[in-house]
Amino acid sequence: MSRRDFVKGVGGLAVGLSLTRLGFRFIDFDAPGSAEEEVFRYYPYDSWEDLYRKKWTWDKVTWGTHLVDCYPGGCSFHVYTKDGIVWREEQSAVYPQIEDGVPDMNPRGCQKGACFSRVMYGAERLKYPLKRAGERGEGKWQRISWDQALTETADAMLDAVEDKGPETIIYEFGSGEGGTVNGPTPAWRLMRLIGGTTLDSNGLTSDYNVGLYQTFGKFNFVSSIDDWFHSDLLLIWHMNPLYTRIPSAHFIWEARYHGTEVVSIAPDYNASSMHADLFVPIEPGTDAALALAMCKIIVDEGWVNEGFVREQTDLSLLVDTFSGRFLRESDLEEGGREDQLYWLDENTKDLVKAPRGTLEIPDGIIPALGGSITVGTLGDRRGPAPTFRPAFDALREKLEEYTPEKVFQITGIRPKIIRELAEKVANAKAVHILQGWSICKYYHGDLMERSLALLLALTGNFGRKGTGMRGWNSAQLVQSGLLKTRPGLEGFLQFARKARKTEKRILEQDDTMTEEMVLIETERAEVRGETVAEGIPATPLMVPPAFYWYHHAGYKDVWDNPDWNDPEMKRSFHEYMDEAMERGWWDGLVRPGPDKTPQVYLGVAGSTLRRTRGGFKQLLKHTWPNYKLVVSCDLRMSTTAAFSDIVLPAAGFYEKVDFRFPTAHINFLTFTDKAVEPVGEAKPEWEIFALLARKLQDRAGDRGIGHYTDDGGRQYNLRDLYDIFTLHGAVKEKDGEKLADEMVKDTVRVGALPEKTDLKEVREKGIIRFTGLGADAVGVGMATDIRPGQTISPLKWHVERKVPYPTFARRIQFYIDHEWFLEAGEELPVHKPPPKMGGDFPLTMTSGHQRWSIHSINVVNETLLRTHRGHPLIIMNPNDAITRGIEDDEEVHVFNDFESFHIHSKLSSAARPGQVIVYHAWEPYQHRNWKSSDTVVPGMIKWLHLAGGYGHLNYWRWNWVQQQVDRAVRVEVEKMV
Ligand code: SF4
Repeated sequence: MSRRDFVKGVGGLAVGLSLTRLGFRFIDFDAPGSAEEEVFRYYPYDSWEDLYRKKWTWDKVTWGTHLVDCYPGGCSFHVYTKDGIVWREEQSAVYPQIEDGVPDMNPRGCQKGACFSRVMYGAERLKYPLKRAGERGEGKWQRISWDQALTETADAMLDAVEDKGPETIIYEFGSGEGGTVNGPTPAWRLMRLIGGTTLDSNGLTSDYNVGLYQTFGKFNFVSSIDDWFHSDLLLIWHMNPLYTRIPSAHFIWEARYHGTEVVSIAPDYNASSMHADLFVPIEPGTDAALALAMCKIIVDEGWVNEGFVREQTDLSLLVDTFSGRFLRESDLEEGGREDQLYWLDENTKDLVKAPRGTLEIPDGIIPALGGSITVGTLGDRRGPAPTFRPAFDALREKLEEYTPEKVFQITGIRPKIIRELAEKVANAKAVHILQGWSICKYYHGDLMERSLALLLALTGNFGRKGTGMRGWNSAQLVQSGLLKTRPGLEGFLQFARKARKTEKRILEQDDTMTEEMVLIETERAEVRGETVAEGIPATPLMVPPAFYWYHHAGYKDVWDNPDWNDPEMKRSFHEYMDEAMERGWWDGLVRPGPDKTPQVYLGVAGSTLRRTRGGFKQLLKHTWPNYKLVVSCDLRMSTTAAFSDIVLPAAGFYEKVDFRFPTAHINFLTFTDKAVEPVGEAKPEWEIFALLARKLQDRAGDRGIGHYTDDGGRQYNLRDLYDIFTLHGAVKEKDGEKLADEMVKDTVRVGALPEKTDLKEVREKGIIRFTGLGADAVGVGMATDIRPGQTISPLKWHVERKVPYPTFARRIQFYIDHEWFLEAGEELPVHKPPPKMGGDFPLTMTSGHQRWSIHSINVVNETLLRTHRGHPLIIMNPNDAITRGIEDDEEVHVFNDFESFHIHSKLSSAARPGQVIVYHAWEPYQHRNWKSSDTVVPGMIKWLHLAGGYGHLNYWRWNWVQQQVDRAVRVEVEKMV
C-alpha cells in the first residue's frame, strides 16, 4: 500500500465522501496530477500494520502551535515528522508552575489542535493558486501560477488606485490566522504602504467588550488563567469554558479543590453548567436586570465597599439633578475645563475638584456618596435648580426599579436565589466573573457588561488577585513587521524616536495624562493623519467596518427598521448616523466614503461571507457585484474563497516559522517551527505579500503610475514599495525567520522578554514567559506588573498606585453624561430587553463557539466531523419540538422576516423552552442552498455606539468600534414538508 493509498483509505476517501454529501464540488482531488497525487506520491508502506508499528517512530520533532484565534490558545505542541509529512502532534506539557500553591498550565491543548495535521492534509486544504473558471461560487476552478495570480491581483489594485482611489481596496482579516510573522500582518503592512482600507477586526468579529470599554476606557485587561485559582467565587456568566476554553478550564475545577464556589449563570444547561456548584438559569438577554437586583441588595444591606467606590469610581462625582450632566469647571468659571469634575466633601459640605492626575483622595477629604449641594452661580445655564448630587445617589434611585420580585418577572430567577447570589458576592474575598464574547453580541450587551462591572465595583472586586472580569489582551510581542522600515536596533530606534516625539507633544497638552492615555492618543493621532512610524504613510491602521456596511452593503435599510431596534429610540437609526457624521465624530474613519465604491476585496483567513452577520445575503447582493476582483488568501477552502476570483494558498501552522499572537492570559511566547515544506505550492503570508509588493512596484512602473493620494490627502508612491516592505531588503520574501528574530529582539528591547532572548533560544525552549506588557496602548491597558513567581491580576496600577483610568471621568465610569446616553436613558446601567430582531417570532436564537472547531478552521475536517453528528445542528427543547411535530435529527426550516435556512434538529432539554441554539462557524456550504444560521441574523448595530466626541468615546484600533449583534434573534422553526 502506498502512502497515498493509505491516506486516501483512512482519510482522503472518507473526506471526499463527506464533502460530496455536503455539496463540496470545487476541486477534483482524484484527477490525475491533482494536489493529492502530488503530495502523497512517495514513501510506500507495505500494510496498515506497518504504519501501526511505526507510529512511534519519527525523523524529527519540532515545536508547534496553532496560529488561530482560539483565545487564549497558545498551546505548545510537539510536532512529529516522518518522511516529509507531519505524522502526529501532541501537547508538550512544558509549562512551569508560576506560583507556589497554584497549579501549572499543563497540559495545554484541545482536540482541534491535537489533530491539526488532519486539516493540513485534509481535502479542504488549498494547495495551489486558483482562478475561477465559471461564475463566482459556481465551483469551477483553474490552477494558475503564482506569477499570474499576483499579476492579476496587482493590476486590479492599480486599477482601483487609478479609478477610485486606494481606499477602495478593502482588506479584512479574521480569526482564522493568528500568526504574527505571517497571518494577517504582511497584508496589513502592505495596505498601509499603498493606502488600502483595513477594516477593524474587532468590528468584524464582534469580539469587543463594549460595556467594559464604556466603563474602564479599555477592555484590554485579563487575568492570567492561573489567577482564577485565587478566586473565592467564580461566576461563569456568558461563557461555556468546557467548549471554548478547553486547555484553561481545569483551573476552574482545580479552584474548587481549593474551596472556590463555582456558579454558572446561563440560559441553557450547558457543558460547563453541569459541573458548577450552582446553576442559575436565566432568560436570554436579561443579565443586566439580575446584576442590578444584586447591586440593589448590596446597596440596601450596606454591603458596599465605600472606600473603593469613592476612590476608584465616578459614583462619587457630582451630577446635576436637572440636566443629568456632571458638574464641570466650565460650568463654574469662564474658560474652565470641560473635563474637571467635582466631589462634595462630606466634612466641609463644600465642592472639591476631583484630581485628574491621580485617584488618591487628598487628606481630610471624604467624597460624599449621598446628599446634595446647590450652586448659585450657574444662573440660567443649569435650569431652575442647579442642585448637584453624587452619581451614587442617582444610582441608588435607579436601583429602586430592580427589586428581586420585579426582576424575577424579567429573568425567571426566584427572589430567594437572587438574594443568595448577592450575599455570596458581598461575602467572598475575591470574585471573578468569567465572561466571554457572547455577552457583547447582545444588542444591549453593553448594558449587561456595565451592570456586571457595577456589581464587582460595589464590592471592590478589581485590581486584586482572583478578582475582575475578562476582556482581551494581545500586545506583548512587538509587531516589527507592521511598524519598522529598517532592521535591527537602528530600525527600532527610528520607530521609537518618532513615537516618543508624538507622545511628548501629546503630554505637553495635558501633563496629567498617564502613560496609557498618551499611548491611546498616539494611536488616535494616526487617524488624524500623523504618522508615528518613520517612512510609513499615515494610512489609518484600521477603520470601523460599520460605515462600509452602511454605505456599500445595503445595511442602511436593514438598520433603519424601527422594529428591529430598541423601541425606546427617540429617532431613526439614519438620523443618529447623520448627526454623528455632521458632528465629525468619525472624521477620517468613514473609509471608503459613500461615493467611493469598493473595487478590490482582499481577505486573509477571514471568511466575510460566513462571518458577517447577514452578510451572505447583504454582501453577495450589494457589494460583490461591484468588486472588480475578490482575492482570498487562506489555508482552506472557505465560503468566501469559494466566491472569490483568485485564491492564494497559505502555508499551514507547521509549515512556517511563527509565533501565536500572545496574551497575558497565558503569558508565554509560543513558537511554531517549520516542520515540513508547505503542501503543494502554498506559501507563508510574508512571502506572498512581499511578492505582491514587488509585483505592484513593477506593474506600477510599467503603467507609469507615480505619486498618488488617497481621500485623506496622504501621499503614496509605489516606486520603492518592495524595498520598504522588506525593511530595505533585510527581510525578503523567503526571510520570515529573520523577521521572527527581529520581533524577539524588539520585544526584548521593550522589556517584555528576558534580556538576550533570541530566536535560537525560543527555538530551543518552545515557550518563553513574558516579563512585560509590550510597548503599545493595548499592552499597557493591563495596568499591572508581571512578576516572576506571581499570577497576573490586571488593573493593579489603578488600585494600588492610584493611576487614573483612561475614561472621561478618569475613574471607572458608570455614569456617562454624553447627550445621547442621557437621551437613551442609559447614563447609568439599566436593563433593556433585546429588540425583536428578525421580527415578532416565538423562538429566541442564541449561539456560542462550538466544541468541535476553532471558528471554521476545523468545521469540515473529517476527523472532527466524526466526533459529532457530522453536520450543523439546531438545539431545541423537546417540548418546543413536539408542538411543532419535529423529531430528533431531522432537517428543519428556520425562518424570520429577514431570511431562512435549513439545519438538522437536535432535541435536548439543556435548551430552555423558547430558546434554540446554533453554535456558530458552520460553513454556509454545509447547508442547503448555502444558507447558514447567520443568514437570518440582520446584523444590527446599536445606534448608541455611533456616539463620539466625548472623552474615551472616540475610536482607536480595536476600541470604540461598532459591532454587529447576533444573539437573541427571533425565529420560528418548522417541519419540512
Ligand atoms: Fe490550544 Fe488553540 Fe491549538 Fe486548541 S487549537 S490546542 S486551544 S492552540
